[in-house]
Amino acid sequence: MSRTLHRTPCPACHHAVAVSFHDGGHQPLATLAWPATADEARAMKRLPHAFVRCTGCGHVFNRAFDYTEIPYGDEPNRMFNLGPLWGAHLAAIRDRILSMLPASPRVVEIGCGAAELLHALAGARPGTYVGFDPHAPLEAASDSVVLRRELFDPAVHLSELAPDLVVARHVLEHVHDPLALLQEIHATSEMLGRPVLLFVEVPCIDRCFETGRTADFFYEHYSHFTTTSFRTLLERASEHVRFVEHGYGDEVVFGVAELGNSATQRRILNESGTFEARARRTRRTVRMQLDRLYEEGARVAFWGGTGKAAMFINAFGADARRFPLVVDSDPAKVGTYVPGTGQRIEFRDVLHERPVDVVVITTQWRAREIVAEMQREGIDVPRVLLEHDGELVAFDSHSHPYRDASERSEEEAA
Ligand SMILES: [Zn+2]
Repeated sequence: MSRTLHRTPCPACHHAVAVSFHDGGHQPLATLAWPATADEARAMKRLPHAFVRCTGCGHVFNRAFDYTEIPYGDEPNRMFNLGPLWGAHLAAIRDRILSMLPASPRVVEIGCGAAELLHALAGARPGTYVGFDPHAPLEAASDSVVLRRELFDPAVHLSELAPDLVVARHVLEHVHDPLALLQEIHATSEMLGRPVLLFVEVPCIDRCFETGRTADFFYEHYSHFTTTSFRTLLERASEHVRFVEHGYGDEVVFGVAELGNSATQRRILNESGTFEARARRTRRTVRMQLDRLYEEGARVAFWGGTGKAAMFINAFGADARRFPLVVDSDPAKVGTYVPGTGQRIEFRDVLHERPVDVVVITTQWRAREIVAEMQREGIDVPRVLLEHDGELVAFDSHSHPYRDASERSEEEAA
């Protein structure tokens, strides 16, 4: 056995290592090209079929896949769906979906094709049914089923359509990053505060392992799901996978998951939103405070000029024209320049010759040491400021956590 490992992310679970699985050689497109003549067929471009298997979830995918090689839109995806068994499968899916939907449901289907399922649902229960497919045959639209010739965009269409259910059948195996699509629907629904049900269905390759058949592995299917990789995909996108089942003689696997109702995700989204808004307010406030110091004619030194200090100086707009003086405790940094703004970094002793009214400490975590150093070196500055909770505050005030706790309680006691 000559197995080879590849560092390549799994489309189903984003696991990072895959193992060689099946080299199908260089072959033409199988389902979407429709050559018009024998010569055209023989002249078709050969594409690499380098199938590997995720060592995390067992998903099979073509690591040489290039989405731009597939001429979506030139020809319809002529999936054979007129057989009676397929019809029975579709009816079973329809009933399964109806059992989960409210009266007058709102349903969106991604990659709906000619919208057979939406029509079947609409025929059984009136509601709002919208299909997205850049190449949907518009003659398939009706009074009860709206077809939109565009790609489904969670950021736009979830809030616009407020669906109870999003369907994606025989779509995810073509998509370059199916997990990203589902996770984006999950996070968007969370932000909207409106959970949504997801129904997905894909071909299932479980049987390939019993039978050794290889014809499944053609180019247009970037992804080949096993039951396990399909379940893993759903579980990576949702905390509530309702079920995973097989249909059509176990050749397809389908499942339902709830997206947009994760307490963990909600907490992260809220925390991030709060932080972002607070950071914006802080930037405005501190910039205004610095403007005021300059307008008052205060002589200001910034203590610290690289790393976090450089971030501070740049983010709060402490330009070299208005604030030329930057000092540091570290002689090794002296003579270098603040990235971005260009102040020459001076040794802290310069403050003996060029006394200032204000020292702004740019690195909160070193504040105690800097203040102790100033005392030790006899550098006397009337105001020492640092940024805390959205504004510049005096170091000797009690409103920040960067002083020693015992020191503070002693002072408070005194
Ligand atoms: Zn995987």
